[in-house]
Amino acid sequence: MIDLHTHTLFSDGELLPSELVRRAEMIGYEAVALTDHADSSNVDWIVPRLVQVCRDLNAHWKVRALPGIELTHVPPAMIGPLAQKARALGALIVVVHGETPVEPVPPMTNRMAIEAGVDILAHPGVISAEEVVLARERNVALEISARKGHSLSNGHVARLGEEHGAELVLNTDSHSPEDLISREKALNVVLGAGLRPDFFEKMLQNSRRFLARLS
Ligand SMILES: [Zn+2]
Ligand SMILES: [Zn+2]
Repeated sequence: MIDLHTHTLFSDGELLPSELVRRAEMIGYEAVALTDHADSSNVDWIVPRLVQVCRDLNAHWKVRALPGIELTHVPPAMIGPLAQKARALGALIVVVHGETPVEPVPPMTNRMAIEAGVDILAHPGVISAEEVVLARERNVALEISARKGHSLSNGHVARLGEEHGAELVLNTDSHSPEDLISREKALNVVLGAGLRPDFFEKMLQNSRRFLARLS
């Protein structure tokens, strides 16, 4: 499993980065990105700390840990500048908390995230076909989410993503140790989204390509 969206104590996750990464390694993960919730109040506080711990863990353990950020409920016009700031601070992956059906995420969040060229638009909810096409053109991956609530629109995202050739990735959005998933559970999420079983491998390849671009 490659999981490019998780949370630690640096936002509302339950685990210290070291424990999250250790647990991910123990259930067979190849790589895990730490992408805590941020806005302009805390991006400069979170990113350097995640950069530090990922550097330390990568020197000792086999699983690859990546420092990232999830820009969350920020005014859409601020997504681009905050994404740039996060990258300048060392974030290797910028996720945006998309327009999930279960929270009042500001309208235009999906659009501005795609236009800003972030890495992953997480749980994009009932995203439009036009935005899916734009995501493909801008190389922004759309997320199929294993998380309760956010996963309500997986079927829609999967269908439009496949139809328009946008890159899809499967992430857990883990906040607790039990949210990390095995391949078997991941496959269930894929089937539940209405995708063919082999699509799991395809999404894993998309995540692997993302990692390859970083090294
Ligand atoms: Zn989110
Ligand atoms: Zn999240």
